[in-house]
Amino acid sequence: MTGVACDLAIIGGGLSGGLIALAARAARPERRVLLIEAAPSLGGTHLWSFIDSDVGEKEKALLEPLVNYGWREFAVIFPRYKRALPQPFYSIRSDRFDQTLREAMPAESILTGRRAMGVSADGVILEDGTMIAAHGVVDARGPADLSLLDLHFRKFVGYELTLDGPHSVRRATLIDSAADPAEGFQYMTMLPIESDRLFIEDVRYEAHAELDMTDHGQRIVNHAARFGWRIRSSARGHAGIIPVALGGNFEEYWRSGGEGVAKVGLRAALFHPVSGNTLADAARTALMIAEAKDWSGDALHKMLHAHAEKCWARRDYYRRFAAQMLRNRAPSTGHEMLESLYTMDSDLISRFHGMKLSFADRLALSISDGPMPLSSVLRR
Ligand SMILES: Cc1cc2nc3c(=O)[nH]c(=O)nc-3n(C[C@H](O)[C@H](O)[C@H](O)COP(=O)(O)OP(=O)(O)OC[C@H]3O[C@@H](n4cnc5c(N)ncnc54)[C@H](O)[C@@H]3O)c2cc1C
Repeated sequence: MTGVACDLAIIGGGLSGGLIALAARAARPERRVLLIEAAPSLGGTHLWSFIDSDVGEKEKALLEPLVNYGWREFAVIFPRYKRALPQPFYSIRSDRFDQTLREAMPAESILTGRRAMGVSADGVILEDGTMIAAHGVVDARGPADLSLLDLHFRKFVGYELTLDGPHSVRRATLIDSAADPAEGFQYMTMLPIESDRLFIEDVRYEAHAELDMTDHGQRIVNHAARFGWRIRSSARGHAGIIPVALGGNFEEYWRSGGEGVAKVGLRAALFHPVSGNTLADAARTALMIAEAKDWSGDALHKMLHAHAEKCWARRDYYRRFAAQMLRNRAPSTGHEMLESLYTMDSDLISRFHGMKLSFADRLALSISDGPMPLSSVLRR
């Protein structure tokens, strides 16, 4: 058995853990940070996207070196209309995430292929018996006990396709639900990369967490055929099943991820209740930790618990939005909630994505043809 000491041990080199390491390295290069990841590479296999307005200037500066692709605006397409929104949209590939982290951090700070078995507020035991004593530990190992939350799932499969000729997609198309609305709550995402290359993703909201890869793949092929595109090759596939929150008990969920241990990311229930996205939260908590003076396990736990608890309480409206969209409507009409949302003022849409809706915004979302019932305005 061998021993290692550090100022901060981050368990899990996925989205949240990797961003903490990057932010901590930039803010406090004199401190020893260890990033411990079970897989051989950092960040898994993902194409992560975010809208410019999801994050503030500081978060943008943290994310900027990671960005592979950017578009000046994004579009949505629904059965009744299509619209371009003047908000830049960016994507990050996890291979770049891995590379950027390895360039930014000393080699000995990154332990990949090393699984943590025991995690406490100030120490970690790895599978191979290595004991790590840390001033503070942050657990970023992904979900805790999801059965404690009331969830649906956003499931998707995407591929980067090279076509036989040029495609006609000019903007990042976040939602194209015009294609086949009869098949439940489903839409396509299309991200043009080069004139003959684009990323297409088949997205579905469902109550169960199983993924039918063949069906998703077939829908991508059908979607390409619908535009008359012939696929020459496909690469960089990714697939995901991410939780969408309709309700749940935050405190029990937090404890299920480890009593008294600081947590971030999915483990801290820090995600957008409607989209399941965590990137903006991950960037925010990374900076919060990097800027904190006290990295002791207790101080980090206190700070992150208070932050996650506040976020959970403030996101009740978005959980009710998700419940209205996914539980109170038939699957084939769930997309009508988004269809109605995206007719609104573009700043309001940005605030929805950023979970910063004002009272007036909620009112606007409830009157005339708005997607939410009027009773939802007065609750938190
Ligand atoms: C294909 C895909 C695409 C997505 N696209 C987007 C997007 O566009 N925008 C967005 O905001 N969100 C997106 N998401 C969701 C987002 O990726 C997740 O919500 C996010 O990764 C959660 O971050 P996390 O750090 O909590 O967990 P993860 O990123 O899952 O990281 C957890 C890490 O911990 C490691 N680990 C687990 N157990 C151990 C252990 N015992 N010891 C050491 N390491 C361990 C895992 O290997 C993993 O690397 C996507 C998800 C998927 C799957």
